[in-house]
Amino acid sequence: MQEKTEKLVIIGSGPAGLTAAIYGCRADLDPLVYMGTKYGGQLMLTSEVENFPGFPDPVMGPDLIAKMKSQAERLGARLVQEDVLKVNFKTYPFEIFADSGVVKVLSVIIATGSNPRRLDLPSEMKLMGRGVSNCAVCDGFFFRGKKVAVVGGGDTAMEEATFLTKFASSVQIIHRRNELRASAALKKEAFTNPKISFVWDTTVTEVLGEGRVQGVRLKNLKTGAESQLALDGLFVAIGYDPNTDIFRGQVELNQKGYVVLKNGTESSVPGVFVAGDVHDFRYRQAITAAADGCKALLDAEKFVKEKKELKLVS
Ligand code: NAP
Repeated sequence: MQEKTEKLVIIGSGPAGLTAAIYGCRADLDPLVYMGTKYGGQLMLTSEVENFPGFPDPVMGPDLIAKMKSQAERLGARLVQEDVLKVNFKTYPFEIFADSGVVKVLSVIIATGSNPRRLDLPSEMKLMGRGVSNCAVCDGFFFRGKKVAVVGGGDTAMEEATFLTKFASSVQIIHRRNELRASAALKKEAFTNPKISFVWDTTVTEVLGEGRVQGVRLKNLKTGAESQLALDGLFVAIGYDPNTDIFRGQVELNQKGYVVLKNGTESSVPGVFVAGDVHDFRYRQAITAAADGCKALLDAEKFVKEKKELKLVS
């Protein structure tokens, strides 16, 4: 019996992957979605989402993912809660390896997202979504008139701090050195903003609070002195790591490990498309990831159609 070749495999199940799945069903590509063992992406760690169109009342991040998932399932997407272990894009049809076996496929959408770096403190994870956040655009609104701090010295930290001054009464930037790595323009903006102040040479050793952030414990790395700072919110902005380990050597990645786009949403390999934070280090929003998922699917649909018209595949 001849082995079945899938039309489309989607790897990832955040807003990018699930939107691609919804559109993929409607395009008759019968998508097979490897959701990952820990499915759903960053929204699973987000509490109230207020900026996703179509939800006049706040929706919890995991509920939003559950709705996208059931929408994809209703339309016929095959969602498997499994990690992809390896891919082979050097052969065609492509090969996808998981614990359940090897799948041959005509087109792939990579939507594996990125993970914000953590301070790796147990108290940080305990208060995530309860005053600890990785996204000022998503959560800044909840801190009107409150005292917040941002950890980090790069472009993201400066952008987040400046954005937060629209709402917060004060924003302290806590940085582990006494020099920022952010670009000159973003540094200048932060230095000249009267609401922003800096805590240099310092790390956060504990996030304090029961049920909600009430402050942080700090350690000065030069003097060793410990102190406490009362706060309502803590934004951790120390960079992101794209989930691209399994694609190394298969598609072109940039210096920081993000997938490079070549033509629309296509990667360096024709037939392999990309959506969401796995390539996008700039916008990183649920809605931009969802839009990307739609675009990647439209590109994949065209690719598969052309292959079939040319009778290159059955
Ligand atoms: P980044 O440039 O890697 O900066 C991360 C910052 O966090 C650094 O200041 C680093 O300190 C600090 N840090 C890292 N690990 C830490 C830890 N465990 N504890 C405390 N501090 C820690 O990351 P990013 O700011 O997210 O930027 C990523 C990329 O996106 C960059 O290329 C950036 O230029 C780009 N980006 C551009 C824009 C824009 O152009 N508008 C906006 C956002 C991001 P050290 O400095 O001591 O290493």
